[in-house]
Amino acid sequence: MVRFCPKDGSLLKLKSIKTDDSVMLMYFCQKCGYTEQYDNAQVHEEKQEEPVSQIKVIGEKENVDPLPTIDIVCPKCGNKKAYWWMLQTRSADEPPTQFFKCTKCGYTWRQYS
Ligand SMILES: [Zn+2]
Ligand SMILES: [Zn+2]
Repeated sequence: MVRFCPKDGSLLKLKSIKTDDSVMLMYFCQKCGYTEQYDNAQVHEEKQEEPVSQIKVIGEKENVDPLPTIDIVCPKCGNKKAYWWMLQTRSADEPPTQFFKCTKCGYTWRQYS
């Protein structure tokens, strides 16, 4: 599950915080420090056979980005390709916001449809 910072649209990374009897997962933004509790944040006892190391830390150590790409010009560096995704920002009544992330410089911007 991929999530984005509500403040600046950055890709949120997952980190696990170990407590005595469980592991908490938190999303955090590397840009502004925003944190958010992961849904199903508590890994319960029945699920302990799944090692924490299998939890994928998004964007770390991997060059492969799971997001689809689109031909669009980056407003920052002029690169012609960007990853894109849709995000429902406020209520379900409003159209989702389309986000773009430059494949070259990583600049992220949004477009209201
Ligand atoms: Zn942020
Ligand atoms: Zn760029």
